[in-house]
Amino acid sequence: MTRRYFVPELSPTGGPLGLPADEAAHAARVMRATPGDRVVLFCGDGREAEAEITSVDKRHVFVLAEPPRNVDRELPFPLSVAASLPKADRARVLVEKLTELGVTQLQPLVCQRTQLAPSPAAIAKLRRAVVEASKQCGRNRLMQIGEATSFSQYLHQTDPDAASLIAHPDGHSLAVTLKSSGGDDGHSPVQIAVGPEGGFTDAEVEQAVETGWQRITLGPRILRIETAATAIVARIVLA
Ligand code: SAM
Repeated sequence: MTRRYFVPELSPTGGPLGLPADEAAHAARVMRATPGDRVVLFCGDGREAEAEITSVDKRHVFVLAEPPRNVDRELPFPLSVAASLPKADRARVLVEKLTELGVTQLQPLVCQRTQLAPSPAAIAKLRRAVVEASKQCGRNRLMQIGEATSFSQYLHQTDPDAASLIAHPDGHSLAVTLKSSGGDDGHSPVQIAVGPEGGFTDAEVEQAVETGWQRITLGPRILRIETAATAIVARIVLA
């Protein structure tokens, strides 16, 4: 497998460049990169560039890059997930899985029963996890993670044309709702909301339904946040 490295800015003409410090340390110490190795650079906006490593020391790795080109490994429709994030290690797993499955945006929610809103530092770590997962899965466009926002505020800024599904144990069949809302047609935008460990309150569910969201169930067992979000996304993406 070709090694991929994240370089936030790629020149349209290619040329020599140094990998950012954290990528250089990873390439040199973990991947044991050596001059002559072929690698792929990506910058998160959909482009990637072939490159050859030209020199390596403990902290610096220089490469000669070819001109970048657009390589699209995205879903054919926007798919966003809004979720009250679980604790750090499980939030990281959630971010990895959603990145691999092609989710466009993850919106951290602060719901009435959310125990701890994620700090800006915690969100910055999760954005770094998006880069790591994108290196592994070949995505060239980074999944966006927004700043934490209240659920009621979020409902005011969602896409009115998207199929809007709120996961609630007391909901309707996911398959039937996807079909009736156009969420399984392969091109309509889809947005999904997943609640905190204590669940959405009745008032939150009512507010969502009033703004056009549809309640969906994932069966009789209660799933953890990251399982619920990943299961819905997998059902939509792999249909
Ligand atoms: N006791 C909470 C309740 O009754 O909602 C369980 C919360 S669950 C740990 C966290 C979130 O995952 C829920 O708010 C919901 O969005 C989603 N979820 C978990 N299991 C689900 C299921 N079987 N059907 C629909 N949504 C589910």
